[in-house]
Amino acid sequence: MAFTYDDSNIFARILRGEIPNDTVAENDHALAFRDIQPKAPRHVLVIPKGRYVSFDDFATNAPEAEIAGFMRLCAQVCTLEGIGLEQGEGFRAITNAGPHGVQEVPHFHLHIMGGRVMGPMIG
Ligand code: AMP
Repeated sequence: MAFTYDDSNIFARILRGEIPNDTVAENDHALAFRDIQPKAPRHVLVIPKGRYVSFDDFATNAPEAEIAGFMRLCAQVCTLEGIGLEQGEGFRAITNAGPHGVQEVPHFHLHIMGGRVMGPMIG
């Protein structure tokens, strides 16, 4: 997989409206939608609307307003899904980066998963 940004990746295509998605929430800077192969009863992906390949690319290069918008949408997803600590049992938020992180889609995304007790963090 190329770790320079590739506009043909599937999340870029979702952002351009070329393929459908199951949207949970959206703001000016980010989009949240359900994972097509959920690994938990609640499994939402949050992506920035800008072109960032991975977490470190986003955290280094995104304008602060975009980082804030992304993080606020993540928090909103937890509330909407009923898994925030205020109303639920909690959640796991992870990001995979690069070959060792086994990142499949080269557009930065955060997985937010909940609705059951997650397994231990192994491998
Ligand atoms: P990662 O290994 O972190 O890159 O995970 C990519 C995630 O994207 C996987 O959990 C896939 O199930 C998910 N995914 C791939 N294509 C789609 C799609 N069209 N809509 C929603 N989720 C998708």
